[in-house]
Amino acid sequence: MTLFKSLFAATALVASLVAGTAHADYPERTITMVVPFAAGGPTDTVARLVAESMSKDLGQQVIVENVGGAGGTLGAGRVASADADGYTILLHHIGMATSATLYRKLAYDPLNAFDYVGLVTDVPMTIVSRKDLEPTDLKGLIDYAKANKDTVTVANAGIGAASHLCGMLFMSAIETPLVTVPYKGTGPAMTDLLGGQVDIMCDQTTNTTKQIQGGTIKAFAVTSPERLKIFPDLPTAVEGGLKDFNVGIWHGVYVPKGTPADATAKLTAALQKSLKDENVVARFAELGTVPSPESDATPEALKAKLESEIARWKPVIEAAGQYAD
Ligand code: ASP
Repeated sequence: MTLFKSLFAATALVASLVAGTAHADYPERTITMVVPFAAGGPTDTVARLVAESMSKDLGQQVIVENVGGAGGTLGAGRVASADADGYTILLHHIGMATSATLYRKLAYDPLNAFDYVGLVTDVPMTIVSRKDLEPTDLKGLIDYAKANKDTVTVANAGIGAASHLCGMLFMSAIETPLVTVPYKGTGPAMTDLLGGQVDIMCDQTTNTTKQIQGGTIKAFAVTSPERLKIFPDLPTAVEGGLKDFNVGIWHGVYVPKGTPADATAKLTAALQKSLKDENVVARFAELGTVPSPESDATPEALKAKLESEIARWKPVIEAAGQYAD
């Protein structure tokens, strides 16, 4: 072997060892899971359950950091520009797809700034109101909203959030624009709904179940095609008179683009295990949802979902003609 060849071989060996040792032991420290909404809300609830379970498998803490604001785009932007080392990950929902069209300027490209870990769950929504709002069923709520359109307030978690999307679909279905009130997440919005400072909200069962069951808010409908086991008496939005009103809020885990493949693979394996964790399955069921099957908790399935959902919502949002800068 010439000197040049042996030097080259030695350099290649060192490089591969460095790359190997850099990630063979991944994770070697705490992982931060960014939730792009405030603490105490539905995305936060899902993230904390999954993060706790993933920590067990990964042998390192996965801690949740809430970076709320601008409908989830601030938190997503934060992860897009984080080091691609597997130590900053993002749990986001359908807003990743809707914000791609809703925002004229985003600090990141939703389709090119991330690598994919996998889908997590698809959560039904509920149309709810403060406890003492007059109407008692969906038809009554629609009539009431139409009659009081300048004063009825609808809470959401900012443009691009699931609650914003569902609220927009509601207003478009009843052909009546209502006054919207944005929050950093529907956790704080729920506090105001309970306190009577805001009237209506459409939000995931992962945030509304406890309050509906406790009678501290009023529920009018679920947005799933079928009624939910946890609320057998609550009609679907379609049964209540809103044609084709089916909305499910899918969630996925992402990493910054360029994250080492072996780190992403470990995260996918840990996510898949967490979705079979008895505690996660039981808590999800209590909150009206189910974990994604293993075949969906994969990078390929999440990538395909994001691409198809961006294409699905683009014309709907363009037809509504409401954008954020
Ligand atoms: N899921 C909520 C929404 O998109 C936000 C949150 O998790 O707080 O409306």
